[in-house]
Amino acid sequence: MILYNTLGNSKQEFVPNEQGKVKMYTCGPTVYHYAHIGNLRTYIMEDVLEKYLRYVGYDVKRVMNITDVGHLSSDADTGEDKMLKGAKREHKTVMEIAKFYTDAFFTDCKKLNIKTPDIVESATNCIDEFINMISVLLEKGYAYIAGGNVYFDTSKLDTYYVFGNQNEDELQVGVRDDVDEDKNKKNKTDFVLWFTKSKFDSQELKWDSPWGIGYPGWHIECSSISIKHAGEYLDIHCGGVDNAFPHHTNEIAQSEAFLGHKWCNYWFHVLHLLDNSGKMSKSKGEFLTVSLLEEKDYNPLAYRMFCLQSHYRKPLTFSFENLDNTVLSYNKLKNRISKLNPANDEIDKQKAQKYIKDFKSALDNDLNTSLAITAVYDVLKSDLNDSTKLYLINDFDRVLSLDLTKFDDNSKKSESLDIDTQKVEELINRRLLAKREKNYALADQIRDELKSMHIIIKDSKDGTTWEIEN
Ligand code: AMP
Ligand code: ZN
Repeated sequence: MILYNTLGNSKQEFVPNEQGKVKMYTCGPTVYHYAHIGNLRTYIMEDVLEKYLRYVGYDVKRVMNITDVGHLSSDADTGEDKMLKGAKREHKTVMEIAKFYTDAFFTDCKKLNIKTPDIVESATNCIDEFINMISVLLEKGYAYIAGGNVYFDTSKLDTYYVFGNQNEDELQVGVRDDVDEDKNKKNKTDFVLWFTKSKFDSQELKWDSPWGIGYPGWHIECSSISIKHAGEYLDIHCGGVDNAFPHHTNEIAQSEAFLGHKWCNYWFHVLHLLDNSGKMSKSKGEFLTVSLLEEKDYNPLAYRMFCLQSHYRKPLTFSFENLDNTVLSYNKLKNRISKLNPANDEIDKQKAQKYIKDFKSALDNDLNTSLAITAVYDVLKSDLNDSTKLYLINDFDRVLSLDLTKFDDNSKKSESLDIDTQKVEELINRRLLAKREKNYALADQIRDELKSMHIIIKDSKDGTTWEIEN
């Protein structure tokens, strides 16, 4: 498999450290709020990568952290802890906020068919490991204490900017975001490993440490949790591209200083989901969540398909209009699949090979998911018998996870009654658009048209469902 590696900024053949095994680490969510669909784009693409590695036979161990402490509002080690912000916003404790949004994150993942990583570990569960790692960094001379905090000394490294593709603006982390420069830092790029002194004394969660009562920096979490569970040699580290600098750059600095050797070979970064004002973020613009999509009657899996239709290394612009187009293609695709009738056909595994090869070569080429979806259409268009088609689509869906062969009772019943489910779905979509545009007269007209086809629709907070009149 060829993967684009941010380390080296080139496409490279993927070769794991240990034959047949892949150790993979994912930066988990900061659980102070719901994940927006931009965050989830990253998790969807990482999920496809993990599932594809398993599909081709690797034994994958994937680790993810939950950031429930230490991620400050600014990447330059300043500002309030995001968790505390969430707790204040909702008049709850930090741990209550963490629990609520961790659960919400996994609920969203489930709706998007994102598999839970093998190991999920909260930062607050690993304070001893962080303290140990920081102690070693101090012993080895890679860290120093200043003004009550412990800092990583980036001047001790031969190369700090390992990704080598940062521009001037990005390198200004120490002075950007209109924050006061931290006078304790020896070098502008140094970063905090342990805080005991912060302008924000109201930090709720604090632990005793050899350097005083305080709390860990954000970057140390990922280095430490990764090494704890995936060992000293990591194959792939994933995250959104905004994390490449400073977060991942700092992770590499600490991990390699601690271990004394190279740590991770491949860095997989997903480009951002954009809205009309730029990068989707929690602090600006409309905050789009999976629940909001559902409130607007979208099936979350249509959003998964929307992500899979574009390459993970291209920014993706979200609009409801674009999503509507995907909904139509998704419904049409499922409708075509629902019409397959495996009857007594035998699966022609030999003929199937060519299609498996095409599917694999799409994903082998730096995870080209849109071509992988084309492979599904090619199967449908082919002269294969229906059993073989279903066999292949089921097989591909192990990676795509679009529930392509899952149908509810309605689709089975409609088939026996010869109801055009594609038309039903299209009318429901048109009614949805009409409602969104507040054209209620048209929405009612469409409802009546559906009724004349003996289709009864029901609106609920989970979306619009339909059933065939008894
Ligand atoms: P956070 O919860 O802020 O720590 O972010 C969780 C993940 O989402 C990280 O891997 C981020 O890099 C990623 N991320 C943040 N914003 C976006 C976006 N607009 N598009 C895609 N990924 C994002
Ligand atoms: Zn991380």
